[in-house]
Amino acid sequence: SQALLQEDDDEAKATGYHADAAQVDKAKFPKYAVGQTCANCGLYAPDGDKPSGGCALFYGKDVLAQGWCNAWEKKA
Ligand code: SF4
Repeated sequence: SQALLQEDDDEAKATGYHADAAQVDKAKFPKYAVGQTCANCGLYAPDGDKPSGGCALFYGKDVLAQGWCNAWEKKA
């Protein structure tokens, strides 16, 4: 595992990353739909049963499985 992406990191701010998907403001992020999390995003790379894993978007940083960002996409 790698360092966790923090919400106030520049790249996190740029993509609207939230450590807790439940905290996403739908008015600010209209793409967000309830139920979307990193865990079910196509860019997420789970790390066993750990609560965080890799994201293809954030090289060298882990994201929380319960997180979300504006680049969320449906798993293929
Ligand atoms: Fe999470 Fe997907 Fe955004 Fe990566 S691209 S931070 S896995 S929602």
